[in-house]
Amino acid sequence: MAKQVSNGENHSAAKPPPTPSPLRFSKFFQPNMRILVTGGAGFIGSHLVDKLMENEKNEVIVADNFFTGSKENLKKWIGHPRFELIRHDVTEPLLVEVDQIYHLACPASPIFYKYNPVKTIKTNVIGTLNMLGLAKRVGARILLTSTSEVYGDPLVHPQNESYWGNVNPIGVRSCYDEGKRVAETLMFDYHRQHGIEIRVARIFNTYGPRMNIDDGRVVSNFIAQAVRGEPLTVQSPGTQTRSFCYVSDMVDGLIRLMEGENTGPINIGNPGEFTMIELAETVKELINPDVEITMVENTPDDPRQRKPDITKANELLGWEPKVKLRDGLPLMEDDFRQRLGKPGKN
Ligand code: NAD
Ligand code: UDP
Repeated sequence: MAKQVSNGENHSAAKPPPTPSPLRFSKFFQPNMRILVTGGAGFIGSHLVDKLMENEKNEVIVADNFFTGSKENLKKWIGHPRFELIRHDVTEPLLVEVDQIYHLACPASPIFYKYNPVKTIKTNVIGTLNMLGLAKRVGARILLTSTSEVYGDPLVHPQNESYWGNVNPIGVRSCYDEGKRVAETLMFDYHRQHGIEIRVARIFNTYGPRMNIDDGRVVSNFIAQAVRGEPLTVQSPGTQTRSFCYVSDMVDGLIRLMEGENTGPINIGNPGEFTMIELAETVKELINPDVEITMVENTPDDPRQRKPDITKANELLGWEPKVKLRDGLPLMEDDFRQRLGKPGKN
């Protein structure tokens, strides 16, 4: 029977968890851990798959509709006997037998999540309902990648998990922010009502190789611009802050959360905080000192500050980020140069 989880807050389930597949406890047959990663063809998802596949006891199934992800990100695993890739939209039910579900499917870049906002809400709400239904049917543990956007334009700084947020319910970012807030609600309601084993990660801005070039997120924009020799577009006023976590640290945090005993929500992010002007100056210095920095118009409801309080991740998961921004940016530069066909500067 799966263990009851508690994180010192009142998140205990009213019902015991559903019974997992009998194969998990079979004495005569030691199955691998079967893990579903929704959104596994995307940026964070594909790095998570790489890490999960390192463990020979894991079988990994990726379900992805390839809206922002691509097969290219998973090409080294296609054909591997412990790996399966399914073209699937999570707004439709999925029937697979698995022990764990990492539920990442959802566009993360503002350009993409605002492109079809109704679809973004469906992905967050119906998609999460479908994955919780699957978790309930097969007795799987499920982890949701929620977001720092649930804190909106935060009035508390840094943000800790007990802060309820300051979110505009009718703005252009609401399809994502409110969608993730409902997804979190569904996770905790399934936990309380049906005993599902849940884990909720609140991810702060993450960067690294395989981000979509030109996907509009600030780190990928600045690196692509620096590599191409184009001006770095700081959106005004430029004093807004973000905290950037390198993707290997993020994957480590997500796996620790899944394997640990706490439901969350738990912030996973790097507390190093930078203004967008500071980020542009750092990219210019490290990647291309010849580029200009230019100020451009911002989009509505842009949060003015963001920095995670990671006390909980540190105490409950023994997790803290290792890669500093100045070390992570050059790793991403190599990948961008290769994909943009711009040879290294050395
Ligand atoms: P991404 O856009 O690179 O990956 C998302 C993946 O989900 C893509 O492969 C996409 O094709 C897939 N997808 C989207 N809608 C789907 C649907 N309806 N059905 C099936 N697949 C679908 O984004 P990412 O940066 O890898 O983010 C992964 C997760 O982490 C998302 O849930 C996102 O909200 C969360 N997150 C990311 C960040 C960040 O900075 N990268 C910050 C906070 C939260
Ligand atoms: N931003 C910027 N220039 C860009 C893209 C984004 O200055 O080319 C700013 C944006 O205004 C925001 C921050 O960078 O304040 C982070 O934006 P991003 O879209 O990466 O993620 P968010 O945290 O807003 O979801």
